[in-house]
Amino acid sequence: KRRDKNRWTLFEESMDLQYSERQRMKLDLREAIRTGAMELCYQPMFSPDGARIAGAEALSRWTHPELGPISPAVYIPLAEEMGIIGDLTRCVIDKAAQECASWPGELFVSVNLSAFDLADRAIISVVADALDRSGLAPERLQLEITESGLMNDLETARVILTELRAMGMSIAIDDFGTGYSSLSYLDMLPLNKVKIDRSFVRNLCADARKLKLLRGVVHLARELGLDIVVEGVETEAQLRLIRENECADLIQGFIFGSPIPGSAFGELATKLTKQDLIASAETSRLS
Ligand code: C2E
Ligand code: MG
Ligand code: MG
Ligand code: MG
Repeated sequence: KRRDKNRWTLFEESMDLQYSERQRMKLDLREAIRTGAMELCYQPMFSPDGARIAGAEALSRWTHPELGPISPAVYIPLAEEMGIIGDLTRCVIDKAAQECASWPGELFVSVNLSAFDLADRAIISVVADALDRSGLAPERLQLEITESGLMNDLETARVILTELRAMGMSIAIDDFGTGYSSLSYLDMLPLNKVKIDRSFVRNLCADARKLKLLRGVVHLARELGLDIVVEGVETEAQLRLIRENECADLIQGFIFGSPIPGSAFGELATKLTKQDLIASAETSRLS
C-alpha cells in the first residue's frame, strides 16, 4: 500500500544506507547541485473553496542517474551533513523566484529554508540577489522554516528573519504542531503564517479529538494574527470538515494538487487565473 503513495519508499525506509552507498550518493549529490541538475516542483495552495489559487510551494527533486528519484527526506539531511545545503537553497530560491516572476497575477512562491541557512547572514544576500535577478516583488516570496534539529542559535535566526521580513518577504513556520516546530517559536520569531502539519489532518474524520486539536491550534494562530495553511488535505470529507470549522485560509494537499514541474504549474496558474478573472467580472456585472 505504502508503495504507490510514495515513489521513493525504498530510500525512505532504509535511511541508514550502506557506507559505500552513502559516500557514492554524497559525491553524486554534490555534483547534481553544482551542475544544476536538481529540479523544482510546485504544489499549489488554494483558497478553501477551491476557487482561487494563491501561490505554490517549491519542492526540490533529485533524480539519480542510476538509482532514480531520491526522497528529499534522504538528500536534504545529506546536504546538511556535507555543508552544501546553502548551495541547494541558493539554487532553489533563484529558480523559484525566476519562475514565479513569470506566473500571472500576484501568486506567491514559498521556499523551504534549512536551519543551517538561518545560522548565517549570507542568506540575506542570497535572497536579495535572487529578487534582483528575477525582478520578483519581495511580497511574492515566502520563506518556510522548521527547526530540523539544529536551530540552536535562535537569536541569530530571529535577527536574520526579522531582516528578511523587513525586506518584504513573508515568513511561514512549517510542519507546525510537530516536534520540529515548537510553540515557543510563535512568540520568538517574526512570523506571518503557520502551516499546520498534515498529522492534524490524518484521521480528522474518524477521531473527534483530532478536530478539537486542529481547532485549538487554529484559534491560537488566529489570536496571534497569523494566517493559516492546512497541509496534507487528501479527501473531500477532510476538506468539508476544515471548511465547516473555518480552520484554514489556504489549503495545500493532494485534493487540490500534487507537486508538478514548473512548466505545468505555469500553465495551471494561467488557466485558473483567467477563470478567476472571468468569474469576478461576471460577479461585478451581476451586482
Ligand atoms: P514540507 O515542506 O512540509 O513539504 C510538504 C511535503 O508534503 C511534500 O513532500 C509534499 O509532496 C507532501 N504533501 C503535500 N500534500 C500532501 C498530501 O495531501 N498528502 C501527503 N501524504 N503528502 C503531501 P516532499 O516533496 O517529499 O518533501 C518533504 C520535505 O522535504 C518537505 O516537507 C521539506 O521539509 C523538505 N524539502 C523539500 N524540498 C526542499 C528544499 O528545496 N529545501 C529544503 N531545505 N527542504 C526541502
Ligand atoms: Mg515546506
Ligand atoms: Mg510542510
Ligand atoms: Mg512536512
